[in-house]
Amino acid sequence: MTRARPRVAVVGAGPSGLYTASALAASDTAVDVDVLDRLPAPYGLVRYGVAPDHMKMKSVIRVLARPFGPGDVRFLGGVEVGTGPGRVPLPVLRAHYTAVVHASGCALDRRLGIPGEALQNSLGSGAMVGWYCGHPDHGTPPRLDVSGVAVVGAGNVALDVARVLARTVDELVSTDVPFTVLDALRSSAVRDVHVLIRRGPQQVKFTPVELRQLGDLADAEVVVHDDGLLEAGISDDVTDRRERANMTALTEWACSRPVPAARRIHLRFLRSPVRILGESHVTGIVVERNVLTPDGRVRGTGEEETLDVGLVVRAVGYTAEPIPGLPFDDATGTVPNVAGRVIGADGAPVAGEYVTGWIRRGPTGVIGTNKHDAVEVAASVLADLATLPPPARPEPDDLTRVLAERGVRPVDWTAWLRLDAEEIRLGQARGAERIKVAELREMLAAVHGAAAAVDLGR
Ligand SMILES: Cc1cc2nc3c(=O)[nH]c(=O)nc-3n(C[C@H](O)[C@H](O)[C@H](O)COP(=O)(O)OP(=O)(O)OC[C@H]3O[C@@H](n4cnc5c(N)ncnc54)[C@H](O)[C@@H]3O)c2cc1C
Repeated sequence: MTRARPRVAVVGAGPSGLYTASALAASDTAVDVDVLDRLPAPYGLVRYGVAPDHMKMKSVIRVLARPFGPGDVRFLGGVEVGTGPGRVPLPVLRAHYTAVVHASGCALDRRLGIPGEALQNSLGSGAMVGWYCGHPDHGTPPRLDVSGVAVVGAGNVALDVARVLARTVDELVSTDVPFTVLDALRSSAVRDVHVLIRRGPQQVKFTPVELRQLGDLADAEVVVHDDGLLEAGISDDVTDRRERANMTALTEWACSRPVPAARRIHLRFLRSPVRILGESHVTGIVVERNVLTPDGRVRGTGEEETLDVGLVVRAVGYTAEPIPGLPFDDATGTVPNVAGRVIGADGAPVAGEYVTGWIRRGPTGVIGTNKHDAVEVAASVLADLATLPPPARPEPDDLTRVLAERGVRPVDWTAWLRLDAEEIRLGQARGAERIKVAELREMLAAVHGAAAAVDLGR
């Protein structure tokens, strides 16, 4: 008897899942691949994380979409793996596939662990970025009737948030931000965005191109608060190119005269948030001044100051949500693995379970980093396929039946393309490549062929 074609489920249609699907489909081994995502739209953080004013970066979706041409890869959007109503538990999924590759990313914001963090208008960057990128989970807008905002973090996500808040509406009109987001930004009262950076100018994780971009905004000024650290010039000991480039840009701003602008982005070095003030919502933030010790570490001085802010966004990293039924390392926020093979508590690989992307290695690296990762994980899957038992329920249509029983109607690639076309159509009126449909109800109306019902009244 001939063995049926192996079937692989990839959970998550972000870059890591799609690069994995692509590598599996391109192999000489005949394998059927289903890519599942909890959302009706693919592309993960390329769609819902990459800043709207970085539209060029998003052109990578042309590469990511490749596996869905005619061939062996199916998209099953709107299918969430997990426990609870409308979700598909992992054991149920496992019964239909020879192997499962988890590529579900790191969706949870890390916390600061300071008092006041739970106040209204204190958010993680996931919620803030999700809102302006039109993620259906984050439809509630932050209150922007405030003049001061604190963004906590020393990485590119902190810069993204500061930049989007400081841009004029004219600068954002040709991006893909939803209409509701553009309206909220149009009436924004924000004037001062304070980026709170725990360490000094040499230690930031910004990439120089992103940092320099702050200086190119139409009506915003960059103000550097460095406690005199940059005055001494850049030491010859700083040999790292990224560090030198960042320090050069910062020194130029630190030495330049103030320019009149509607908004200011304050880069406040050596400042750590201590507590967020307010009764029900944010009214301020107390920060402690730090100093750098001779060995480059940070020490708090106990000296505090209060910044007048009404919105706090923490951009201090992400962690993955544990997947019920799969091992999880709480310390790293990732799934333990070797070459993508999930490792159980006994130290042995869990047969047929793999991880890739952020959930495998944590929230680091650029989109392309996920490709290297995916190629390695796909190689592990392909090497193991012959030894893995066939799925208990090998018929592809069987899964559709099981999903229907759970009230789940998967969005296939053709259906997603209807939403894609709708977004492109909406964009034409605003001179944008596309405008995101952000509400789940409207997304589903578009994918299930009721595009005419999606009347946004514009
Ligand atoms: C704010 C921000 C901006 C960024 N900007 C850039 C940039 O400009 N350039 C760059 O190179 N990189 C950027 N990155 C990094 C880049 O986005 C990541 O490297 C990449 O998206 C990680 O890919 P991933 O597939 O592991 O995770 P994700 O992109 O997060 O994809 C995970 C997918 O899994 C789905 N999913 C989650 N849980 C489930 C479940 N239970 N069932 C089914 N599906 C599920 C999600 O809906 C999502 O589609 C940015 C990251 C962030 C957070």
